[in-house]
Amino acid sequence: MLKHLTLALFVFAWGCEVPEPPAERPPPDVKLFVFDCGRLLFDSIESFGIGDDETAVRELFVPCYLIEHPKGRLLWDAGLPSSLAEADDWVTPTEGTRMKLTRTLAAQLGDMGIAIDDIGLVAFSHMHFDHVGAANELANAQLLIQRVEYEAAFADPPTVPYFDPSLYNQLADRPIMALKGDYDVFADGRVEIISAPGHTPGHQVLFVDLGNTGPIVLSGDLYHFAESRALRRVPTFNFDAAQSFASIDKIEALLEERQAVLWIEHELAFNETLNKAPEYYD
Ligand SMILES: [Zn+2]
Repeated sequence: MLKHLTLALFVFAWGCEVPEPPAERPPPDVKLFVFDCGRLLFDSIESFGIGDDETAVRELFVPCYLIEHPKGRLLWDAGLPSSLAEADDWVTPTEGTRMKLTRTLAAQLGDMGIAIDDIGLVAFSHMHFDHVGAANELANAQLLIQRVEYEAAFADPPTVPYFDPSLYNQLADRPIMALKGDYDVFADGRVEIISAPGHTPGHQVLFVDLGNTGPIVLSGDLYHFAESRALRRVPTFNFDAAQSFASIDKIEALLEERQAVLWIEHELAFNETLNKAPEYYD
């Protein structure tokens, strides 16, 4: 009996010490830049499916991201409307909501020697106003968008609340690639749009396989707060709640399978820890 137990312990311990084969990492030739594209502040966050007594957080970070791949540049999400930068302080669009943008995306890109109309590809997690704020400035970008999101956003009037065509209507005259599901942007598995509908009809997230940082997923609005993920809650204003939960299941499984880290785009505390452009992740 003792012999068996000892043997079992030996096998167990030995099993633990077997070194994992080093995971094969891609080269660090894809760069991810994070931009501060504003803040949102709410008196109450109950509409996000979180009780005001479940967290003290009321402020959301609003990001923009630039992905530099050897084959091209992709902008992912374009933040709050650029015109907000003209105000020095919080702006109140509706009672209980405030928003602020300190510097436009174009100005921040300019610091890096990049003109916003040099960007060749753009995708938004979805077309809500806090994700497309600089969209009309992308004069030479091809839009990658789920067909159902396109149909909702470019209908006259749009069929989904919080879509503001005055922020993105000029994209209609530019080349558009209508997607139906997941799409590998540079056809090498490094930057992949993953369909995750529910928040809006064609909501999507972005998988980026970074050589040094490792694989990450930019969440879009799959979640807004750390509590949204921990408590499995979705906003009451989502386009389709059942679809939202199905997308949560899909993305959580993908994170597990690819051993990827989820970056919750709106989570202020997490985003305060990130290096902002011109620093980058590779
Ligand atoms: Zn948002």
